[in-house]
Amino acid sequence: MSIAAPTADTRWRCTLCGNLTRFDVTRSARVVEYLHFDLSGESKVEETEVLSETIERVRCRWCNAVDQVELVPRPGAEEDVTEDGQKA
Ligand SMILES: [Zn+2]
Repeated sequence: MSIAAPTADTRWRCTLCGNLTRFDVTRSARVVEYLHFDLSGESKVEETEVLSETIERVRCRWCNAVDQVELVPRPGAEEDVTEDGQKA
């Protein structure tokens, strides 16, 4: 089962305890990073381009429920957002 990522109009909500703010997210991503090295050899990521991303697991920090999140509208977002087919 894959979990839908939050969008500009939606966020996660734990269906068991109602947590909206704290989750441990396990995700795999394929990224291109722009590494900038300084003269001593230390590097820093200055740009990241995400080519693909999969959310594998979301665990609620409050009640430890795994993959029990649903997408709910963010405050102020339209209730009838259907762009992603998530909410009717
Ligand atoms: Zn929870």
